[in-house]
Amino acid sequence: MVELDVGPDDIRSLDDISRLPIVEPKLLSQDWYEEFCSVPFSEIGGYLETSGSTGKPKIIPVAREEERMIFEQVAMMWHVAGIGSVGLTNGRSVRNIYSMFPFGPWPSQYFSVHGAELLGPTIKAGIHMSMEWHRDKLKKFLPADIITYPSFISFFYKKLKEIGVSFPIPGLERICIGGEPFSETFREKMEEVYEVPVFDVYGCGEIGVTAAECPHSRKSGLMHWYSPGMILEIVDPETKVSVPKGEVGMMLVTNLWRKSVPIIRYAMGDLLCMTEEKCACGSNFPLVSRIRGRMNDMFQYGAANIYPWQVYDSVARAGLCDKFQLVVREVPDGDVLTDTLTLYVESHDELDEQSCAARVNQALAEISIEFDQIVNKIKFRPPISVVRVKPETLFTQSTPKLKRIVDERRA
Ligand SMILES: [Zn+2]
Repeated sequence: MVELDVGPDDIRSLDDISRLPIVEPKLLSQDWYEEFCSVPFSEIGGYLETSGSTGKPKIIPVAREEERMIFEQVAMMWHVAGIGSVGLTNGRSVRNIYSMFPFGPWPSQYFSVHGAELLGPTIKAGIHMSMEWHRDKLKKFLPADIITYPSFISFFYKKLKEIGVSFPIPGLERICIGGEPFSETFREKMEEVYEVPVFDVYGCGEIGVTAAECPHSRKSGLMHWYSPGMILEIVDPETKVSVPKGEVGMMLVTNLWRKSVPIIRYAMGDLLCMTEEKCACGSNFPLVSRIRGRMNDMFQYGAANIYPWQVYDSVARAGLCDKFQLVVREVPDGDVLTDTLTLYVESHDELDEQSCAARVNQALAEISIEFDQIVNKIKFRPPISVVRVKPETLFTQSTPKLKRIVDERRA
């Protein structure tokens, strides 16, 4: 625990917030949750879980009285992106919304379904359902909106095609995707095959869905930030001092209405910038850039959070040398793009790349339940492939500190 020379009485204005310590995500590890949970347990509605940097899941308690705010926050961000805006009657859409995420302790479907239900009738489409089930539901409900992960939307297209579904999907007006980085090329491909606009939304288990592109801002790479009761600071990653508007820095989020979890100057590790620009849509939600990168090497693969320690452990367990680099990139896959993981390993000797890949994949699946789900169970992202490179290809005199994990999707 951190001891500080600052008490509640010292916080008199918004500027004083910089006197408070930065809350690191590892604080929310399951070992601590009873300590940081700030309301009596009888007031907790439930718990959410996301994978954590320490190897133990992060546990996020949600108090009953916060649920309404969380769902309204999600609904407002969905609304910015145009979700649930067709044929409004009494403020609600008459058209169906298709929320497609995994069911489980994870926040995505919980946020998405409850937020969407405030806007219109919502189909709770679990990603584990068969493609025939999805095909029948799309036909029956003719949803106007689909909300899902980037990785699942490209997989979905391929799999629906395989069972004879023709595109465009009748009635579909837009797709909202979030939870993983994706390139503009990926977006263009998706818009080409689905023939509807694709919107980026930003969120995570700890802070909810907090940013979304509107039809105007998405053309300039900007998102609207959900500001009611949420303070967004952008600081220099080294000095932790605020940077001027327009400069990229590390985001710190303070949520004034979350009572059960201390989301105070919470550092997710994402980099972005704030802008003074006003949006042509007229919304008062301020504009921020799309996420420009991450402070640490954690990356999302098919919506699984993969941490560097998991990669190091898997490589070690697979008996490979520690001179490696893992590259996440988008590659052409039929009409669309898919993400792949390539592990480059330096070796003097010939390497049986296939058996090495099998060992690494097995090790990572044992360490990461999310990776196992995505690669082995639902199979919507391919496993890691291994490529041998000659010694001193990756690690040379001039690059003594090679970046072990490279996410090319943000390039
Ligand atoms: Zn706008």
